[in-house]
Amino acid sequence: KLYNQVQEAKGNIRVFCRCRPLNKEEISSGCASVVDFDAAKDGDLGILTGGSTKKTFKFDRVYTPKDGQADVFADASPLVISVLDGYNVCIFAYGQTGTGKTFTMEGTEHNRGVNYRTLEKLFKIAKERSETFTYNISVSVLEVYNEQIRDLLATSPSQKRLEIRQASEGVHHIPGLVEAKVENTKEVWDVLQAGSNARVVGSNNINEHSSRSHCMLCIMVKAKNLINGECTKSKLWLIDLAGSERLAKTEVQGERLKEAQNINRSLSALGDVISALAMKSSHIPYRNSKLTHLLQDSLGGDSKTLMFVQISPSELDLGETLSSLNFATRVR
Ligand code: ADP
Ligand code: MG
Repeated sequence: KLYNQVQEAKGNIRVFCRCRPLNKEEISSGCASVVDFDAAKDGDLGILTGGSTKKTFKFDRVYTPKDGQADVFADASPLVISVLDGYNVCIFAYGQTGTGKTFTMEGTEHNRGVNYRTLEKLFKIAKERSETFTYNISVSVLEVYNEQIRDLLATSPSQKRLEIRQASEGVHHIPGLVEAKVENTKEVWDVLQAGSNARVVGSNNINEHSSRSHCMLCIMVKAKNLINGECTKSKLWLIDLAGSERLAKTEVQGERLKEAQNINRSLSALGDVISALAMKSSHIPYRNSKLTHLLQDSLGGDSKTLMFVQISPSELDLGETLSSLNFATRVR
């Protein structure tokens, strides 16, 4: 309840920053951390940019390396629950490769992330409300790679390539998209696994491929109020974005260049859309990338958006960290 008041006062866009721990290699090579968490409780993140200079960035929440998956989900859960009340919601993980985007969204089998926890929570609340509502929940898993949309749940190769069709102003649909009906967390886990497995097919290096594509999970909720008969339809998108890092100068050619340009284009398009929404601009440029076009009916209006900006504490990543924090500043 309180959360929603805060939410309304602040608009519908929230930005959380999560910093991963220094990893084994960084610790053994004596790498320093450039992050100051002294005021993390107030949402302030300090970055030591050299000498005695410190830059401060403001967030709705700051997670230190000590905060776990449950801490992160505790803050995201009111937002995910609002999909049961008819709101469209988008949750993104943004950042350089290796900063924990997939850890936050997917997590690991023993330390599950936002995706699984979200569905678990939705089923739990749906059950609690079963005397007044019936909910119908289904999921789709998509990938956007080089401005092409792939259905990760499609079984035949011909079904895999997807296009966006405009039905009427602001309303679009994706013909052929597989929507898997899910009724419990076991079925959810199976669908999420099938989606991840499909990502591997056709790529010779899964880590590289996944860092260069956007992985998008869409949860569709149909709700029927058993008392007044009212029906609502809403969507919750959970998105593990492609790595935001800039290309090394040595790699600026061929396929790698094309991928990098597409990633750049779609991440800037996302930044443009979110900042246009935050400024209540009259024109929102959804059409500049497949990513924003797909999300057209789920970003803006009374939809809710949460962005996790993932960073590395390492001094070696300072440049990328500052660039991610600047992106965050732009959308907040
Ligand atoms: P990305 O998806 O951004 O490329 P990953 O999620 O693959 O990054 O994370 C890189 C590595 O760091 C993984 O081994 C992951 O388990 C670990 N890691 C990331 N964030 C955390 C965290 N908050 N706590 C512990 N380990 C983490
Ligand atoms: Mg990843």
